[in-house]
This record gives sequence, structure tokens and C-alpha cells, in this order.
Amino acid sequence: MRRLYSKRVWNERTGRFEPGLIEIRKGRIDSIDFGSKRSLAKTEDLGESFVGPSAIDLHIHSRGFDENHKEDFESLEAAAQRGGVGLMACMANTQPRLDSPKRILDFLRLTKNRSIRMLPFAAVTEKLEGKTPTAWKELLKMPIAGLSDDGKPLWNEEIFVAALKATKAAGKLLSLHEEDLSCSEASVIHLSEASMRTGHKGSPEEAETRMVERDLAWAARLRAPIHLCHLSSEKTLSLIRRYQKKGVKVSSELTPHHALLSVEDFREREPLEWSQFKVCPVIRERSDREALCRAARSGLISVFASDHAPHSRLEKDRPMESAAHGILSLENHLPLYDLVRRRSKLSWGDYFRLSAQKPADLLGLGQEWGHLKPGYWANLIVFEETKPQDLEWGRSKSSNGPWKGLKAQVRMLQHWSQGRQVYG
Ligand SMILES: [Zn+2]
Repeated sequence: MRRLYSKRVWNERTGRFEPGLIEIRKGRIDSIDFGSKRSLAKTEDLGESFVGPSAIDLHIHSRGFDENHKEDFESLEAAAQRGGVGLMACMANTQPRLDSPKRILDFLRLTKNRSIRMLPFAAVTEKLEGKTPTAWKELLKMPIAGLSDDGKPLWNEEIFVAALKATKAAGKLLSLHEEDLSCSEASVIHLSEASMRTGHKGSPEEAETRMVERDLAWAARLRAPIHLCHLSSEKTLSLIRRYQKKGVKVSSELTPHHALLSVEDFREREPLEWSQFKVCPVIRERSDREALCRAARSGLISVFASDHAPHSRLEKDRPMESAAHGILSLENHLPLYDLVRRRSKLSWGDYFRLSAQKPADLLGLGQEWGHLKPGYWANLIVFEETKPQDLEWGRSKSSNGPWKGLKAQVRMLQHWSQGRQVYG
């Protein structure tokens, strides 16, 4: 039995931080006594530190396997420990791809018994090439988050529709990277004044909205839920709103980079640094960023999901055209999304809904994960507010990202995962 006491424990029922005594037994929260004024003997007194549920991130590029130089499962675990992420759904675009039951078993073997839970997505199509479906029947019976070809769109409509039916029947996620490559292939930046001035190929927002519109129409026809990765454009939000009103179950993600940055930020940086902003989908206008943040507050966007994507210097410190897509963030998951919270005027209730509760529900784990409640796994973070300070990096093997200049305003003190203290 472990006992933790703090004057600021998140109380989901009242939507406030309150004095509380948490008892942890066999990895789970045994009880929470709110209103408890003093700490008992054999209790760790956390003072005025904030205590809330740890995060669940539905969009992580784990690397490992043949890309251990970018990130391996040890460094991934270490980054999540500091970031306060207790469960990660990892995308299938590893090298080699997670596109067969054997590869899923390899992933599960390498990530078993780690302090942070890692759930793989299986690829929808072999090698993510969009041509041949993988062994869905077998894969969907395995402990996976669902199916996803993330990194690539499912341009073949027949395969998309069949995958939608299969994931609906299995009760698993179909996580979609929405991009019409006919207008965005080889693009490196948002189609804007900046792309035209610099001669870089720009991606219009239609690259996202066209695919989203096709897929929402099918979700409505088949009454099947769909999950949209990393939204980038305001126009996509109006499509989602329209279909949600019709009763379509559509969930979606907000990344820290689409929430905190816009194409205007490029102007303030040296062209040499631009490749650090290169990501797919591209970072768009300030008005898009603000609309995405409003949508997170209103619940139109369902979850925070980071799209953590490590790349080595060799692959990232290059001219825009040849640099790899992707931004690193996992080990600063809490401070980055705390900045999103501050700038978007999200309440802490909104924050925990987006970072923990909704992702748990979408994985079908909402009875054991995502809440600070008796009976749930003891997955919690302990943190404090600080004066603005530089973000700390160093746990991931890579360091790519456009985060220079951003200041953290919270600091992680402890992270508990399934009843074990894994940080602090
Ligand atoms: Zn993607």
C-alpha cells in the first residue's frame, strides 16, 4: 500500500483540485479521500503539487527495430516517463512495417513489461503501400489499438471502405492520415505567401479537406466511427461539425505543433531552421491554429495526440526539400500541452478530458485508464507551476523540433504508471 497526500488532487466530480489522500494498492487506486486535511503516518506528503491522471497519446512514432539510431524502445520509454505519458499507441510505419501478425508479435515482445504501456497500430495495407490489405481478421483479434497507415493516406476507396467495416465490427480504431497527394505530393510548407516567396512547394488545405469529406461521407453511410489524425485546417473543422450534427461518430487529434505554431513563425527564423518545422500535414495559418484550439475547447476535437516523430540530424538538418517530415515532443508532453491549455483558455477539466479520458475511451479502456478514481490503474502525474523556463530535452535519442524560444510553465515532479513511480 502506498499513500500520497496533496493539497491539489484533481477531483473529477467537482472539476477542481482539492486536498486529497490517495491510497494505491496492487497498482490500482484503492481510494481517494477528498477533503482530508492532514497527512497520515506513512504518507508521502506532496505539499501543494498538482496531481492528475497521466496522459494517453494515440499518435506516437516509436521507431526502434531498424531505426534505433532515431529512437529505441528504451529512449522512447524514458521520454514518456518524463513527459507524463502512461500509454502510447504506436504507429505502424516502423522499419520494417508493422504489417503482419508476426511483426505485431515482435513489437509486443520488445515492449512487454515496460514501465509505460505501448500498444501498436497494425498497418491497413502491406508496406503501407495502399495496395494489398494486411491480415485484418487475425490482426484485429490481437492486442492492438486498431488499424492505421499513418504517414500515408488510404487513397484506395475500396480498401478504405472494407477497413472501415472491419474496424467497426471489431470495435477498434481506424486512424486516418487524411491527405490528397494529388495536390500535396512533395509539398514542404503551407501554400501561402511564404511558400510563394521562397519557391517551396506549398500544400493547400484542400489536401486535407477532400479526403476528410470522402471519408466522413462513408462513415455516415456505414454508421461507422472514424478517427482523424493530426488536423491542420479550419475548413476541416466545419466538415466535422456538419457530420457530427448528423450523428456521425468522428474523433480527431490536436498536435502540439499545430496548436502552438503557424506559418507566420517561419518568418522569424533563419531559412536553415525551417526544416525543423517540416511536418505532414503542414503547419498552416494563425487563423487555423486558433480555430483548432477553439475546437479542442468545445469538444469538436477529441484528443491531444502528439505525432511524436524522432529523426536524426542527418535526416533533418538539411534543405527543406530533402529533410524528413516530423517533430519531436514526447518528453515535453506536459509542458507543451500546458502551453496549449494556457493559450486556448482550456480548463484543467478540458485538459484531462483531452489528454486522458477521451483517448482511454477511444481505445476501449475507459473502465481502467484515463481517470483518477478508485478501481482505476494508478496512472498519475505530480507537477508544479514554475517561472517560464527552457524546455528540457535529452531523453529521446533525437532532438528535431521547432521549439526554440518556447518556455515551459510547469515542471513534472513525479510520474506513476500502474502503481509504480517511474519518474521523480
Ligand atoms: Zn500522419
